Amino acid sequence: MPQPEIPTAAQNLAEVRTALARAAGLAGRAPSGVELIAISKTHPAEAIVPLLAAGQRSFGENRVQEAAGKWPALRGLFPDVRLHLVGQLQSNKARDAVDLFDAIHAVDRPSLVTALAAAMDAAGKRPDCYLQVNIGEEPQKAGCAIADLPALLAQARDAGLPIVGLMAVPPAETEAAPYFALLAELARRHDLPGLSMGMSSDYETAVMLGATCVRVGTALFGGRG
Ligand SMILES: *Cc1c(COP(=O)(O)O)cnc(C)c1O
Repeated sequence: MPQPEIPTAAQNLAEVRTALARAAGLAGRAPSGVELIAISKTHPAEAIVPLLAAGQRSFGENRVQEAAGKWPALRGLFPDVRLHLVGQLQSNKARDAVDLFDAIHAVDRPSLVTALAAAMDAAGKRPDCYLQVNIGEEPQKAGCAIADLPALLAQARDAGLPIVGLMAVPPAETEAAPYFALLAELARRHDLPGLSMGMSSDYETAVMLGATCVRVGTALFGGRG
């Protein structure tokens, strides 16, 4: 029996793009209004290059140090890459994060706002920022409490952070749609245009509910082992 062929990263990319365009179309949205962020955490440069070669330019990492090891060289080859930090950020890494990333998706506490504001002033560079909301109010999860969002947003705006939207990771093992809808409602209430939501298992749902960027790892790269 012939072995089933393992799809290449470029084939996965084409499939995800098709699914994204279909979901956007159903919602009456332009596919160009959704940024596909390829989450390349744990994957080496050899796994990333095929996606770059296929035209993918937005990538996401969850650790500053890992990104600092991989991306400067890749960026030398593909200077128009847009790099997103999607994982938790320690305040003492704020300067490295500001230097390396074009967008930071996990701003979730006052001390981090202060550290990022100082880092941006020092670097003379202001990456887009998303406030991360603990949308399921889960004790172990990152993100600010829903009740704390107005104060954190006010502090971030006062500090000069370019807050473009909200980000969340809904509770696992449950229907994500209500959480996506709630995040979209919070963004609307605060006049924030950006919505960073949706991963491999639910990015189509997220797009139908208004996501402006989806963070997709496994569906593009395969499992992280
Ligand atoms: C790893 C990760 C993703 C991608 O998850 P997949 O299920 O592999 O698509 C998205 N967002 C965040 C914050 C992540 O850490």
